[in-house]
Amino acid sequence: MTNELLGRHRAVMPDWLALYYADPIEITHGEGRHVWDAAGNRYLDFFGGILTTMTAHALPEVTKAVSEQAGRLIHSSTLYLNRPMVELAERVAQLSGIPDARVFFTTSGTEANDTALLLATAHRRSNQILAMRNSYHGRSFSAVGITGNRGWSPTSLSPLQTLYVHGGVRTRGPFADLSDADFIAACVEDLKDLLGHTRPPAALIAEPIQGVGGFTAPPDGLYAAFREVLQEQGILWISDEVQTGWGRTGDNFWGWQAHGRSGPPDILTFAKGIGNGMSIGGVVARAEIMNCLDSNSISTFGGTQLTMAAGLANLTYLLEHDLQGNARRVGGLLIERLRAIAAQVPAVREVRGRGLMIGIELAKPGTDEADPDAASAVLEAAREQGLLLGKGGGHNTSALRIAPPLSLTVAEAEEGAEILQSALRSVQP
Ligand code: PMP
Repeated sequence: MTNELLGRHRAVMPDWLALYYADPIEITHGEGRHVWDAAGNRYLDFFGGILTTMTAHALPEVTKAVSEQAGRLIHSSTLYLNRPMVELAERVAQLSGIPDARVFFTTSGTEANDTALLLATAHRRSNQILAMRNSYHGRSFSAVGITGNRGWSPTSLSPLQTLYVHGGVRTRGPFADLSDADFIAACVEDLKDLLGHTRPPAALIAEPIQGVGGFTAPPDGLYAAFREVLQEQGILWISDEVQTGWGRTGDNFWGWQAHGRSGPPDILTFAKGIGNGMSIGGVVARAEIMNCLDSNSISTFGGTQLTMAAGLANLTYLLEHDLQGNARRVGGLLIERLRAIAAQVPAVREVRGRGLMIGIELAKPGTDEADPDAASAVLEAAREQGLLLGKGGGHNTSALRIAPPLSLTVAEAEEGAEILQSALRSVQP
């Protein structure tokens, strides 16, 4: 059945639309942290949490809110007052930590970053942007032009001039051998050097933990240190929280909070699972920045009653069930368990992460050389045993990515760890 669909997929979809697995899966339904394929196989979903499903598959509270709203009204989010949009904006503004915050909803993370770039470039009157090496911010004309990950490098000329900054990846690169404090100092020097040779950029855009880049995090405090340098020149800080937002990292509700003394970013972007599958992205910025645009709106579909109803129900569930705390507790146990497993598997170079955002980096045993083939083999082996994982990293995707729905239970974490252990062992040379 899947193969029949694969033939039709290949005949009509673009070649560059990547599919996981040699024999791609057609997922037909889900519940909680599990999904089923068309052949009736059940999988524990260790990746859907970051793609779409932040809380749980087919969460009854969200299903009810969406079906009731769909039966009542879906209309433009501009031109007429929209109660669910204002209600969700109020909650997001308050949660964001940004003073005098204004919120604009889009339909994707890419569009959210596009809007952030539009705001920053208009506010600062500069089309120069600082971005991190190995970063990912989306695939639109402007977002692709600032993405630093070489696996997703620009396919066309960008309307923006981008300068790439060191610091997003702690374990590889020229400063990898330094202590955390020296690493931060070296990255700050690099940034100052860059700024000394250019006209002032509009903003620095950065993911607090790089998502597509393989769940790599800089030492806490890096962005606080950057911020001091940026503020001297009035350069804005855009925190792309598309993967790190909403409590996924456990210790913090937003990724920027790991940088403590820096205070909130000037602009924050979010997307992915806040609608639990309904497409919601958005931008939060201080009023003075948000209102610098002379524009009626940016998106027809951003903020429709349907997606906002989903977002409100999902956010309410997330907060009432303290899923951030769950990410901290269950994620902490899972990281510990995976580190113990990794100690027995020479192919694992590093288990890293925070909360339910966990990366496993694979390298050729005894070397530092990334091993994308091993990562693919583990992905396949885990799937055979009923576990869906993600992949990521630089241009050679040698990291496994674990980002389940935030309601993951301890028993499910243990189930996934068992499968991972067996899958990792099965690809041992
Ligand atoms: N920013 C980050 C950090 C992302 O991970 C992604 C998606 N992988 C995006 C932006 C783009 O979001 P979307 O796919 O919803 O356009």
